[in-house]
Amino acid sequence: MRDLLPVDAKRMRYVEQVSREVSKLYGYDEIITPVLESYDLLAAKTSNEIRERMYTFNDLGDRKVALRPEFTASVARLVATKLRNEPKPMRLFSVGSLYRYDEPQYGRFREFWQANYELFGSARPEADAEILILTNNLLKKLGLQNFCFKIGHTGILREILTQEGMDDEKQNSVRQLLDKKSWADALTVASEANVSQECLATLESLFETSGEDAFKVLESVKETVQDYESALAAVENLWKILELIKDSGEQLEVLVEAGFARGLEYYTGMIFEAYIPGLDIALGGGGRYDKLIELFGGEPIPAVGVAQGIDRIVLALTKQEVTPKTAKDRSVVVISVKDESMAKALELSAMLRNRGLPVEVAVMGRSISRALADADRRGVAYAVIVGPKELEEEKVVLREMKKSTQRTVKISNLTEEILANSA
Ligand code: AMP
Repeated sequence: MRDLLPVDAKRMRYVEQVSREVSKLYGYDEIITPVLESYDLLAAKTSNEIRERMYTFNDLGDRKVALRPEFTASVARLVATKLRNEPKPMRLFSVGSLYRYDEPQYGRFREFWQANYELFGSARPEADAEILILTNNLLKKLGLQNFCFKIGHTGILREILTQEGMDDEKQNSVRQLLDKKSWADALTVASEANVSQECLATLESLFETSGEDAFKVLESVKETVQDYESALAAVENLWKILELIKDSGEQLEVLVEAGFARGLEYYTGMIFEAYIPGLDIALGGGGRYDKLIELFGGEPIPAVGVAQGIDRIVLALTKQEVTPKTAKDRSVVVISVKDESMAKALELSAMLRNRGLPVEVAVMGRSISRALADADRRGVAYAVIVGPKELEEEKVVLREMKKSTQRTVKISNLTEEILANSA
């Protein structure tokens, strides 16, 4: 787990702020769920891999609890209980920290942040398309370039293996292996489960099928799975989602991978992850999970969602040298020349803050030149120098730090001068 120093914290909050703006643009309402949840709730709904990596302990009431390793279980709990009777569709947004005892490596932390968007109530392809388009726009809005979506559909593999009689547990281990790109081991597990030779050949061919020309790839997948009717329906579904996006005019760079699997077991349909070139870790990922809500005892409710990895997006912004777009800097330092003008300096600081300007007061008792040097070092935009001589005429000195120019202004005009100058 890391300490985020000011530079890192600022980047993190920037991504969080843009993801919140995007939630509003798409009509996702924020919910806040606890960091600590019942172990049983989390354990029952997440994948084996994540379950083993949870931070688990008994609280003073001897309840087994765990730090949340993902948002979806908590959100699904709400949708199956307190939000059960809400009209559909229901769009929910959550942002915060998550905890997994992963092996630390580049882009993998034990405490990390996600911005999570989930759309409940629609099984239609436009809902899947919305989640992809939203993610595309979030990454664009943040200033990232050349990002690409790796896309697949869990239905393709699941329907083939189900038709071959493979049980859920074995299917999950095949998925886990595919998630780690261990194609050969996945084939071995399938073979040991006594699937047909035809099935093994189909799987092998699927694992090799990927490409950026989405419809060409899907055409070839259709041929490969033609003997598995339900798998064919899954391919058609992915086709429809991508066709909708294309026809809407949205530019979405994709890499369709027929053998793509994600670690979490609850996915039932389209799945995806976002990448930038040169960074081999997913910035975010999601997909459709139509069966999860009923696992919580609720009515079956179709759902599709995405988790954006805020920490990894920060790494991607740093890699692509994107500096967060911020409003023109209007920060102010107020420096009192003498002790006797300090009260006035505090009064003026309050006046400026009341108009929304960020203000620091010089509190170290330094000389004017040293206080200015310090403000300069920290990139403050304006200094207001409050001295007894100017105060006699109800004036102060306003200094533009970058230009190193200063002038005397009337206190009654001070706020307007700064605001006009930095508009
Ligand atoms: P998941 O919840 O596993 O589907 O992951 C969704 C996204 O969260 C990933 O694409 C990553 O961007 C991010 N993520 C997952 N695990 C970690 C981690 N240990 N450290 C940093 N980011 C992570």
